[in-house]
Amino acid sequence: MKKIVVAIDGPAGAGKSTIAKLVAEKLGYAYIDTGAMYRSVAWKFLQTGKDFDEAFISALAQTMVIEFKPEASVNRVFVDGTEVTDAIRSAEVTANVSRVAAIGDVRAAMVAQQRRMGEVGGVLMDGRDIGTVVFPNAQLKIFLTASVEERALRRYKELVAKGQDVDLAQLKEDIASRDKQDSERAISPLRQAEDALLLDTSDMNIEQVTTRILQLVEERAQ
Ligand code: C5P
Repeated sequence: MKKIVVAIDGPAGAGKSTIAKLVAEKLGYAYIDTGAMYRSVAWKFLQTGKDFDEAFISALAQTMVIEFKPEASVNRVFVDGTEVTDAIRSAEVTANVSRVAAIGDVRAAMVAQQRRMGEVGGVLMDGRDIGTVVFPNAQLKIFLTASVEERALRRYKELVAKGQDVDLAQLKEDIASRDKQDSERAISPLRQAEDALLLDTSDMNIEQVTTRILQLVEERAQ
């Protein structure tokens, strides 16, 4: 079978990374979490304590080194040698990432790295603009979504299982607000590519979604 590029896009909390990681493991593909890259830029910026400044953040994005070290249960992320796997999931980073990701020069720096990582094929990349901008010629494009209620509920259960005290209504509001910012930005907004397959997972479990994507990869990789 050919080693293809699989682009998975969709709104926040649609299960993209959980699914992409499982599918990549089954196929022996590399998994690239592009959201983690934008989160890393936001984290690095917040560490500096400076006011929001596009030129400053763009310069950071161009010089920082982001590395992934995949392990069985977790995809570890490092920024300039420091592990940020958990830090980039903080509420503070989540609240700031869409603003950082809307900066054109930040996107250009990330997209260049993403193309280098994916050009060899045998890769599953998830994000917001993979099928539309990063790999418009990807052999398989999937737009993974679910209702905002379902996405908020899944995130709620995940956080409660980790022992965190969270408010479901607030989570729903945060997800909807991030979707709005990501969909309405001028550069590379979140949208379904014309040739992407829409997969609404509101009534599907992880296994069903994984199986469906594996079938699609098999068809496209012939
Ligand atoms: O996927 P995740 O929720 O971790 O992404 C965090 C944020 O990074 C998104 O809300 C979006 O603002 C940004 N992002 C992006 N383009 C991508 C991936 C993520 O703008 N390809």
